[in-house]
Amino acid sequence: MTVAGDLVCVTCDHWFDLGRAVGPSGLPYVERYVFARGKALDNWTSEEVNTSLWKFVAEHRDHDLEIVLDSSERHAELMSRDGEYLYVGDVPSFSEYLEGWTGR
Ligand SMILES: [Zn+2]
Repeated sequence: MTVAGDLVCVTCDHWFDLGRAVGPSGLPYVERYVFARGKALDNWTSEEVNTSLWKFVAEHRDHDLEIVLDSSERHAELMSRDGEYLYVGDVPSFSEYLEGWTGR
């Protein structure tokens, strides 16, 4: 079963798509905990994802941040709330999210 994870700013209801949560033996070549996209790409190897993550953390630095897996009750609870919703990695895409950012 594939489980995806998100970094969520609970204060703003902004979500960041972390990708698949992979643990030891989750894949034959991965014997550590990572969030990954595709078959072999760990998030930290993607400059676009990595830079977007740091932008997200900087913008929400004094807010309530949580990492939630989509299989958790907390994920369902947060998804059921009303309000403005942003999902970085989908809408906007990572490249759209980084447009005009002067932090790098
Ligand atoms: Zn925030």
